[in-house]
Amino acid sequence: MAGQIDVIIIGGGLAGLTSAIHLSRAGKHVVLIEKNLYPHHKVCGEYLSKEVIPYLKWLDADPEVLKPIDISKLQVTTTGGRSCMLALPLGGLGVSRFALDDFLYQKAKKHGCTILQETVTQVTFSQDSFRVSTAIHSYTSKLVLGAYGKRSALDYKLARGFIRNKSPWLAVKAHYKGNFPADLVALHNFKGGYCGVSRVENNEINICYLVNYETFKSYTNLPLFEREVLYKNKHLKQILQGSMMCFDTAISISQISFENKEKVHNHILMIGDTAGLIHPLCGNGMGMAIHSSKICSTLVLEYLDGRITCREKLENRYLEQWRTNFSKRIRMGKLLAGILSRDRTTDIIMRILVKFPKLLSPIIRMTHGRPLIITE
Ligand SMILES: Cc1cc2nc3c(=O)[nH]c(=O)nc-3n(C[C@H](O)[C@H](O)[C@H](O)COP(=O)(O)OP(=O)(O)OC[C@H]3O[C@@H](n4cnc5c(N)ncnc54)[C@H](O)[C@@H]3O)c2cc1C
Repeated sequence: MAGQIDVIIIGGGLAGLTSAIHLSRAGKHVVLIEKNLYPHHKVCGEYLSKEVIPYLKWLDADPEVLKPIDISKLQVTTTGGRSCMLALPLGGLGVSRFALDDFLYQKAKKHGCTILQETVTQVTFSQDSFRVSTAIHSYTSKLVLGAYGKRSALDYKLARGFIRNKSPWLAVKAHYKGNFPADLVALHNFKGGYCGVSRVENNEINICYLVNYETFKSYTNLPLFEREVLYKNKHLKQILQGSMMCFDTAISISQISFENKEKVHNHILMIGDTAGLIHPLCGNGMGMAIHSSKICSTLVLEYLDGRITCREKLENRYLEQWRTNFSKRIRMGKLLAGILSRDRTTDIIMRILVKFPKLLSPIIRMTHGRPLIITE
């Protein structure tokens, strides 16, 4: 590859791709390495909080061209059938990862980023430089951004702390045809987990749920599990029974960890889920992935242009800004997920919320950020 690489980005999800666009647009030599081909489906609720739209517009990557669904209401239901509805303070867009990631990939390529389809197997750092290895090649660069998602074999190679612990969470997602209001995102609770339902750009319904393995393991297949557990929530039963799956089979992932992760490891700056994952019920992981990419890319440019004078300062400033922006949200997400996992507490809270749904607004605000301000 000709010339010294400024930044290698490992992983081409939302965090990696938005960083690739940000840095390439600024004239830096960026190489993004993604193991999968585009486009591809991902396990995700596909509700994109609007807080990141000003930044996406600034990147010349406004998802409006994908004709996303405008979502302005939230419904929360319990296993016992209670339901409350409220207007979302900021709202979001229903857009599939199939379309959104591919759209950002095309933008990154257009801005001159080199995108390689390979799997990164090792990263080492010595004499102020990185060596990034895949099965067939090795590349060197000044900086590396880790944007490879929730969990990867690379985490074992890098001996990251969280990877030693097993995580009890797994998630399942598919697109469906059926009736569901366009302006709504629903969060349906069931024993051992919760399920998000909303529409995406092609009018399909995305149904995506997170469940702990303890609840799931006694069932031999997904349809049986859904009938025996998800159908106990009458709202969810109605949606699942009245809809037709568009995928051949649902897609799933396991070992989803909500543990604390290092934001900087072996001098690699971690962004998106690689730095930390918020509980999906907050509907803000995509927003956080994109926001962390903005913070990181801005600092990386300052470093490459000499305005941040050493690597240590770059890392410390990234750590500080990550904590300021995201630590409280992640804690709040964990607290909410804990409450939702207890049927009785959820029921009491839902009785209150049914009468006073506006009480949900401050909770939503605590798990979301304000629209990103673009100063450049
Ligand atoms: C069940 C569930 C529902 C969710 N619902 C929502 C929601 O409705 N709204 C919301 O905002 N957030 C939601 N989230 C969170 C959201 O999906 C993530 O926060 C978001 O995808 C993070 O993006 P990312 O770029 O960090 O990671 P990813 O999108 O996971 O991208 C990582 C990329 O790295 C690649 N990769 C991995 N290892 C390697 C390697 N070694 N070499 C090369 N490439 C590699 C992968 O192929 C992948 O493309 C949900 C999460 C879950 C689990």
